[in-house]
Amino acid sequence: MVPESGGIVPRIMTRGRDGLSHAAAPAYTRGMSCLFCRIVSGEIPAKKVFEDDDVVAFEDINPQAPLHVLVVPRAHVATLNDLGDGHDRLVGVMVRRAAAIAAERGVAARGYRTVFNCNGDAGQTVFHIHLHVLGGRALAWPPG
Ligand code: 5GP
Ligand code: ZN
Repeated sequence: MVPESGGIVPRIMTRGRDGLSHAAAPAYTRGMSCLFCRIVSGEIPAKKVFEDDDVVAFEDINPQAPLHVLVVPRAHVATLNDLGDGHDRLVGVMVRRAAAIAAERGVAARGYRTVFNCNGDAGQTVFHIHLHVLGGRALAWPPG
């Protein structure tokens, strides 16, 4: 079982794209062992709908709605709990990209949902943060 990011795991201090020094994600989820890092690098194929220097967006392999895209940062961050001050711009970029994708897919006016799942109770299964963009049907609330 993969331990949660808050557990006792080796941490590596890195200087990120933002120029800030901060704890990198646990070694067991970074790089080649992380599914979404491998999709970002192109090693594992995905139906990419957008990419720039900050993020990659691709179709979810198991879509839960007519629109189900994941917006993923190129930089590895395991969970929302691992975000720091230096990530504020990146999170803004992710959210604005989700809104742009919803607009491109024609669901902006009728509505859509964005979701970050964090850790076990929320059902996070891939420990590289990703913003779900769901739309194209009425979405129940509260979620299950
Ligand atoms: P989580 O449950 O961690 O919030 O969401 C992970 C999402 O990644 C799920 O919706 C799942 O369907 C999707 N996913 C898992 N593996 C792959 C994959 O190999 N390719 C793509 N495109 N999506 C994946
Ligand atoms: Zn990763």
